[in-house]
Amino acid sequence: MANNDKKASWQHIFNEIKEKITDEEILKWIKDLKVVSIEANTITLEAPNKYIKMWVEDHYIDYLKDILKNSYQIETNIKITLKGVKARETEKAENKAENHEETISDKHVSNNDYFSVPLNKYYTFETFVAGKSNRFAYAACMNAAKGFERLNNPIYIHGDVGLGKTHLMHAVGNYIRINFPKKNILCITGELFLKEYVKSLQNKHMIEFKEKYDAIDVLLFDDVQIISKGPATMDEFFFLFSKLYSNDKQIILTSNSLPDDIIDLDKRLSSRFQSGLIVEIGTPSIDEKIAIIENYLKINKYYISNDVVKFVAENIKSDSTRDLLGVINTIVVKGQLYNVEITVDYIQSELKNFFLQRDKVLSPNEIIQIVCEYYNIKLIDMQSKSRAVNIVTPRNMAIYLIYKNTPSSLKSIGSIFNRDHSTIKNSITKIENEIKNNNEYTINTLKELKNRMNVFQR
Ligand code: ADP
Ligand code: MG
Repeated sequence: MANNDKKASWQHIFNEIKEKITDEEILKWIKDLKVVSIEANTITLEAPNKYIKMWVEDHYIDYLKDILKNSYQIETNIKITLKGVKARETEKAENKAENHEETISDKHVSNNDYFSVPLNKYYTFETFVAGKSNRFAYAACMNAAKGFERLNNPIYIHGDVGLGKTHLMHAVGNYIRINFPKKNILCITGELFLKEYVKSLQNKHMIEFKEKYDAIDVLLFDDVQIISKGPATMDEFFFLFSKLYSNDKQIILTSNSLPDDIIDLDKRLSSRFQSGLIVEIGTPSIDEKIAIIENYLKINKYYISNDVVKFVAENIKSDSTRDLLGVINTIVVKGQLYNVEITVDYIQSELKNFFLQRDKVLSPNEIIQIVCEYYNIKLIDMQSKSRAVNIVTPRNMAIYLIYKNTPSSLKSIGSIFNRDHSTIKNSITKIENEIKNNNEYTINTLKELKNRMNVFQR
């Protein structure tokens, strides 16, 4: 693409996106993005600050790519850089993550600002759905935010990726920032801490490094498992941690596993981590998934029908909440982009990779219908007392197939056929014996009935 074409395509995306999202969103997130460079299928945009950069990356980048793909049938990368940071430098930094900090040339971004993570304003207690899978973690964090968890320090939140650890930790930060504005909060990740430590050593800035940590009232440390990669860093962290801890400063840590399960973690750190409160975030149940989706739709003023919400919650392959919300975003975007009504059938065919492929389970009534059609009799005949062979055989077949293909109990099958559970058991045993004895009629008939059931399932 020639440079001009690409500029034209940003204009095009801008016009397209204007059609799809609210004016408020445009003003807040999109309007101030500027095209800085266009190279081999990569459009680099510049955001005026870190927050807009993060937000656009989290919420709109796939959307923007989709628009481009749709309009030009090309896979275009979209990169967002910070104002004052040259696109090339950002690219270099992304390729070489360890040098990332060197690309920050914006003089407004101080070293300390850079070695911390801005609190995500969206990650609050209000936007977090508390349920069975996370209620202890939620309560512990809420107490910590209010200043009630002094006896339980640190709070160590562990769980698989995408289940809400970072969200909860930032919720504590956001709560404290509003309610106790004088408190000095530092939010950092294991990865940034490692980098900061190495950088401070190289630049002989260890005194500033220590001073910075001395001034903290609340330490929010995300993905602490990563520091086990650096033995010297662990020593330093142990020292900082112990100081904060003995000065009664609140510490919240998140990790993907229990302290003892972090390979190479210093034993002293492991025992410190275990001295406070350890809370786990588990995988959400279907009901929790529904509540999380509904909450998300409400916050973002999106609409998806209840049966689609239920289908997604029941059938999504991944247990991660991040993936769950990702699928919901994709559904919303598709609906808006293609202007189609989103139904269960639509997402089952368009987004099938996200969902478990279940064969439709037939109900007892559907099986009875298939057997009745095959033998040309009625359910009422099967339910009758008749012991005629042309009724008994289909009745036994139906009972056997229901027993083998549905979760129905003997008792509930009995109630369909007006019989007690031992009679039902006899019917099943009879068919099983015939199969064992290679009874040709029974085997062939069952095969044919199974075929009909498969056709019915599709
Ligand atoms: P983790 O840090 O455990 O990998 P995150 O905190 O980044 O997970 O959560 C992933 C995504 O799921 C975020 O967008 C977060 O807002 C959302 N999320 C996770 N759990 C919940 C919840 N219980 N209620 C609302 N949103 C949630
Ligand atoms: Mg996280």
